[in-house]
Amino acid sequence: MTPKSIRQTEEKGVYTLLVKVKLDEWIKVGRLGRLRFSGLYAYTGSGVGKGSTSLNGRVSRHLCDEKKTRWHIDYLLRCPSAEVKSLVTSRTEIKSKECEVAYNILSSNGYVTPIDKFGSSDCSCRSHLIHLEGSSRQALQTILKAYKRSGLNPRAVSRRRSS
Ligand SMILES: [Zn+2]
Repeated sequence: MTPKSIRQTEEKGVYTLLVKVKLDEWIKVGRLGRLRFSGLYAYTGSGVGKGSTSLNGRVSRHLCDEKKTRWHIDYLLRCPSAEVKSLVTSRTEIKSKECEVAYNILSSNGYVTPIDKFGSSDCSCRSHLIHLEGSSRQALQTILKAYKRSGLNPRAVSRRRSS
């Protein structure tokens, strides 16, 4: 289920998934090993190519249950107690904006903690997955602010699990 606004075109852009891990979970994340997760996390990535590497392609993959575990985020999202609560996207052709957004979430005022090396194997960021304290609503505001500070125009879509 992909939001209509980004289904139609082969847009290029950056995205952030707000993921809630409902229970306290130890999850094996590839080479990072077993990590403990609980609460809200913001995962930021980009899709600046075509087809499966477009914004739509990337987001659709994250929201699809049937896939091989390839990226760090795949290990987290396949955990039954992990749920994508919201999705924030913005059009851009500049791939490095994903790093800028991740950095701006991390340097925001709230209580934020990076999960070291998560999703940042091919850049020099500390992390692209950031744990956020507080409510889902506060976390979403933190993400939106980070987009604006990165010079981006964010769109947010909230999701409900169909089952
Ligand atoms: Zn980065």
